[in-house]
Amino acid sequence: MIERLLIFGATGDLSARYLLPGLAALREQGHLGDGFRLIGVSREDRSDDQFRNWVAEQLDRYAAGYPAEACQFVAGVSSYRRADVTDPSAVAPAVAGDGPIAAYLALPPSIFGAAVTALHGAGLPLGSTIVLEKPFGEDLAQAEQLNSLLTGMIDEESIFRVDHFLAMTTVQNLLGTRLANRIIEPIWNGAHISEIEIIWDETLALAGRAGYYDGVGALKDMLQNHLLQLLCLVAMEPPVSLDARDLRDRKVDVLRSIRQLDDAEVRQRTRRARYSAGTIYGHPIPAYVDEDGVDPDHGTETYAEIELQIDNWRWADTVFRMRTGKALGNNRMEVAVHFRPVPHLPAGFDGDVAPNVLRFELDPEGVIIELTGIGRQVRSLAPMKLTAELDQPALPAYGRLLLDVFERNATLSIRGDEAEESWRVMEPVITAWAEDRVPLEEYPAGSDGPARSRLR
Ligand code: NDP
Repeated sequence: MIERLLIFGATGDLSARYLLPGLAALREQGHLGDGFRLIGVSREDRSDDQFRNWVAEQLDRYAAGYPAEACQFVAGVSSYRRADVTDPSAVAPAVAGDGPIAAYLALPPSIFGAAVTALHGAGLPLGSTIVLEKPFGEDLAQAEQLNSLLTGMIDEESIFRVDHFLAMTTVQNLLGTRLANRIIEPIWNGAHISEIEIIWDETLALAGRAGYYDGVGALKDMLQNHLLQLLCLVAMEPPVSLDARDLRDRKVDVLRSIRQLDDAEVRQRTRRARYSAGTIYGHPIPAYVDEDGVDPDHGTETYAEIELQIDNWRWADTVFRMRTGKALGNNRMEVAVHFRPVPHLPAGFDGDVAPNVLRFELDPEGVIIELTGIGRQVRSLAPMKLTAELDQPALPAYGRLLLDVFERNATLSIRGDEAEESWRVMEPVITAWAEDRVPLEEYPAGSDGPARSRLR
């Protein structure tokens, strides 16, 4: 178990909102022993005490539900190093010491390459791990470059390209429901399933994150990574085991089977849009282009929709639709599996049969099965819903991810070839959108997105 965590970019938003609470959760659950140490690194001048106070404040704010002992422990074991992570001579003293470290790059993606080179120069102790957040590069070429830098310094099993969606209970539940139920897996194919929708619609607008989001957009922020990972879990063949190699091999198979869209298909099967001024829950929302820090010339989309096909035996006749948008009228985060209509209904029933839908709700977490049964009148058909709520997870997603990093369990991290395949799938879309071959539509904030969405 690794007992030294270095967060490069420790004073940023990711660290404050997710990593520090993740550590408090690990302490509460008994996963962090007294020997654990946290070293924060960024360029700002701070003393150890100032950093400890800052950590305590962030935990007050973002980990209020955890016991005081856990939060005090995390603040107490913290220390601080001022360093520019692109400079190997500045990084070396932070990395030095006994035993392996987990080097978490909570940094702007634009300096990942320079930071990795600097860490290589500084020399990571044997057995260390390196953790990178999305986006992993900004296109296929950058992802390949970053991969070759990383694998030149450390073995693949020590590289954690994390996607916190994979650590969510509901996402794990997707696998459990699929693979541990006799009644599900035999009908999990194109003969029975017509469409699978993977949706992350949020009411949240830009929320002051123009510095990161403008120029990145919905496709690269959500769809190319998080939603594509969900698609992999939904569509993959059953793995031999849940260990890192078996699970990731099956996910890569899916990515390699996704048909690359040609120019005509990109125009027909993808949509991009950005929000104009509107109202959400009674609050006025300015147009995206009028938000602080946004450059309208970037043409950044806040809504992305893509329809994909998987060229393999299981999914040849099923359509996969992925969609995500900001500043929409309702939060809707789910994987919705739409089954084909029944092949025959005996005469004599009254009413219509709606095809079955199995919904994996991502936030709040739950599972819903939509069936048809008999209503109050004999022979009258009526919709029936079976709903299951999930137990609260013992660890939040970032707690789970950090534990895997400390235990060097790479199952939930993205392997290098997987990261590259994810970019390959999206390359034609990224290029066509950058060249304005698909119009940038508009939708009012608080609406359902651009008119005529193909999604249900
Ligand atoms: P922030 O801009 O809030 O934080 C960036 C951090 O990096 C700061 O601590 C900054 O401190 C430090 N930093 C920047 N340049 C250097 C440098 N040369 N040397 C040392 N430290 C440096 O970004 P976020 O925390 O939001 O994001 C970090 C990463 O996490 C990004 O890759 C992002 O895509 C990813 N991510 C973020 C999520 C979030 O919700 N915030 C969610 C999922 C992923 P200083 O300037 O003082 O050096």
